[in-house]
Amino acid sequence: MARIIGIINAKGGVGKTTTANNLGAYLAAMGKYVLLVDLDPQANATAGLGLHLADDHLNLYHLLINGNEPGAIIRKSSLFGLDILPSAENLAGATVELVGMEEREFKLKKALDKIRTNYDYILIDSPPSLGLLTVNGLAAAEEVIIPVQCEYYALEGLGQLVKTIDLVRNSLNPQLKILGVLLTMYDKRNKLANQIVAEVKKNFPGRVFDTIIPRAVSLAEAPSFGKTILQFDESSKAAEAYRELAEEVIKLIL
Ligand code: ATP
Ligand code: MG
Repeated sequence: MARIIGIINAKGGVGKTTTANNLGAYLAAMGKYVLLVDLDPQANATAGLGLHLADDHLNLYHLLINGNEPGAIIRKSSLFGLDILPSAENLAGATVELVGMEEREFKLKKALDKIRTNYDYILIDSPPSLGLLTVNGLAAAEEVIIPVQCEYYALEGLGQLVKTIDLVRNSLNPQLKILGVLLTMYDKRNKLANQIVAEVKKNFPGRVFDTIIPRAVSLAEAPSFGKTILQFDESSKAAEAYRELAEEVIKLIL
């Protein structure tokens, strides 16, 4: 029975997708069966695994709006054990179309329930908003990972995010927990970075991952080749960091 982990932050460009793809890769490399759900119409997670779908190809939109079976939509990635439920641009329209539908917050959860026994982990890459797509992710997840960039304004929006998570816990999904805050894009040459690390730890005591993801060009380059860091630059520090994160996640939720 898969553990379902949402990767969420309403702030854009903090490393959600990079974390979803690379954490997924290392969990799979450690022998786990992983499904990556691309809940973002930008389809960065899908493209990062080398898939580019036209709007009329079955994708998450068709699952949420037309009720297509997840089995018909899920694709294998080039890594053994890592599957993807892909997205395409048309998913952007789902936000509006969902509004008028019954049980609109539970469309993703209901679909994932059908295939949950096939996987050890299901990772959901969320879009940079707190709209209905993200709410579907939060209603389906048991835990969330919140990536936070080690930069000025890192904490901006986190208060609202925590409030939203609390709201979802109280209304849609009582079991929802914060698994951890993940510090990303850490640059030791940036004097501010350590200050941000300390501040985030103060705000989320005991809930910040020991693993800190360094800023690394290879992490930004890999997706343009449709690869994860495991396939692109396995011996890099960045790869090592995502391997450590996967170990931490496995330890936290077996
Ligand atoms: P969005 O909110 O738009 O979905 P996101 O939170 O998913 O963004 P990413 O797409 O993972 O963020 O990262 C934003 C940009 O920063 C991308 O170009 C990505 O390749 C790059 N990036 C992510 N993590 C790192 C890192 N540790 N070092 C260097 N570049 C990174
Ligand atoms: Mg993203």
